[in-house]
Amino acid sequence: MSTETIEFQAEARQLLQLMIHSIYSTKDVFLRELISNASDALDKLRLASYQDKDLDVDTSDLHITLETDAAERMLTVRDNGIGMTRDEVVELIGTIAKSGTAEMLAQLRQAREVGAEQAAELIGQFGVGFYSSFMVADRVELVTRKAGSDTGVRWESTGEGTYTVADAPDAPQGTTVTLHLKPEDTDDALDDYADPATVRRIVTRYSDFITWPIRMASAEGEQDTLNSRKALWARPQKDVSDEEYTEFYRHVSHDWREPLQTIRLSAEGTFEYQALLFLPSHAPIDLFLRDARRGVQLYVRRVFIMDDCEALVPEYLRFVKGVVDANDLSLNISREILQRDRQIQLIRKRLVKKVLATVKTMLEGEAERYATFWRELGRAVKEGLISDPDNRQAILEICSFPSTHDPEAPTTLHDYVARMPEGQDAIYYATGESRAALENSPHMEAFRAKGYEVLLLTDPVDEVWVDVVPSFADKAFSSVAKGEVDLGGDDVDDDTKQGFEALLSWMTATLSDDVKDVRLTHRLTTSAACLVGDPGDLTPTLEKMYRAMGQEPPKVKRTLELNAQHPLVGGLRNAHERQPDDAGLRDLAHLLHGMALLAEGGELPEPASFVSLLSRQLERTLT
Ligand code: ADP
Repeated sequence: MSTETIEFQAEARQLLQLMIHSIYSTKDVFLRELISNASDALDKLRLASYQDKDLDVDTSDLHITLETDAAERMLTVRDNGIGMTRDEVVELIGTIAKSGTAEMLAQLRQAREVGAEQAAELIGQFGVGFYSSFMVADRVELVTRKAGSDTGVRWESTGEGTYTVADAPDAPQGTTVTLHLKPEDTDDALDDYADPATVRRIVTRYSDFITWPIRMASAEGEQDTLNSRKALWARPQKDVSDEEYTEFYRHVSHDWREPLQTIRLSAEGTFEYQALLFLPSHAPIDLFLRDARRGVQLYVRRVFIMDDCEALVPEYLRFVKGVVDANDLSLNISREILQRDRQIQLIRKRLVKKVLATVKTMLEGEAERYATFWRELGRAVKEGLISDPDNRQAILEICSFPSTHDPEAPTTLHDYVARMPEGQDAIYYATGESRAALENSPHMEAFRAKGYEVLLLTDPVDEVWVDVVPSFADKAFSSVAKGEVDLGGDDVDDDTKQGFEALLSWMTATLSDDVKDVRLTHRLTTSAACLVGDPGDLTPTLEKMYRAMGQEPPKVKRTLELNAQHPLVGGLRNAHERQPDDAGLRDLAHLLHGMALLAEGGELPEPASFVSLLSRQLERTLT
């Protein structure tokens, strides 16, 4: 087939532009990315040869070779790994399939107005792999032949809009990437990537742990191996430096920043494994996207088996990155079998416990680090309260929530309980869309008056876990907006009750389309009315969430509670006593209901009719 010119996918084009104009200050990372890809390609070939005995490939000397040419200003990275077919080249190199691309580009557009630093930060979080070559090269050639195929492909591009693909009949097995380097930056000799010393420095710094030999071809045709090739997870913890962990984290996570925490665990005996895990310091960009990749890498006796092994980590810990290397699994194990494998399940159990215990230790000893963890990843962790009942207690132990106690810092449940005054026997919470709306909601009045602390829960997941988690430390979770409140004060006395009976039953009938009952309450000190649900009811926020997902939730009628002490309520009662059939009273009942909705930050079902009711009332006061 002749040479074909193809356009990059739109997202790819935008990212390439950013690379060409190089907003990232640490350009060295391009080499790490290319070596990382080459190493993956070697892993894949070895695995393929184990799994397919008929595959005709030579795996006797799998390695990566680097070659520099100062005169031509070229740098070549070659591997004899799995290679790519023509279709794969177009699909993998010509497009970006990562979830979160669109989100990141949108953020980048904003960030670019803010400054290059933020843009670089985003790119670093996303990791652009192969495209980072365009930070240092103005033309890149890639020649590749897929294992088992008898012809190769040549890909070439300047990164400006299009690339070419052509047949390459003589291509050796594997992939060769040749960078035609940009003119030398004379200010900074360290940036000369055609200089073997520079390349050597970068490999030692960023890619030492790669288990395949990375060789440097010298002018004399000799090759020497640059990396020590030790699997980090198999080395004693004390022998591995923080820097080595960081670089390994970057290799497995595609995040260019530092990890927040490194976690090691291992088991010996009949069932041996080693694991090296990382917690990121920032929420991954795809943390809440449906098709996000998750899971750690699985190795069996140092042989790479798969990326994104979901069976090893539950969904709520999807941000955990790293490696699990198990001794006693078959190299042929498939994803389907993994899900049911008892050993895998056992590893997963321990892994979860270890991660939760690590966060607990952070909470107890490193407040700031814990605060970062929780701010970035807490929203995902809280999903575990719903999906992982076995570890619910351990998860509750590491949660923290905003509360009325301190507007700046969230509180742990332990601290909340420790502050509970005599007489308070439940953990009170409010759910809703924003802290401000919750703080100003009439539901808070009695709790504020009593000095009871209330958790202010504003994440969507909060709406759900509060319904399935009954208690913490024997204290029940209790919504300030549900059920009848009894804060141990005096009951509404019988005389008052009797005095309001007629009004309440008339209002219940009048508002029957909107509420299921109207009653007197202890909940309010300054407001006239508020709406409360029953314990199992959908909350208004949940109803909204259903609608946002395109579902019509069942209509929930709540109870309208009235504050007998409020002049408006007292006045209404008197007016109703004087003339029960006054048409104006109906308007007032509806207004009271609308006001209760507005006060909790809710939305009126028919704002126009509320406004006309209000306007009629206001007119009356003036005439
Ligand atoms: P990432 O490595 O983050 O997936 P890249 O843009 O670096 O993104 O690479 C895209 C894909 O192209 C890789 O996932 C891999 O499938 C393929 N690829 C890149 N380099 C090589 C290589 N040297 N050998 C085989 N496949 C490769």
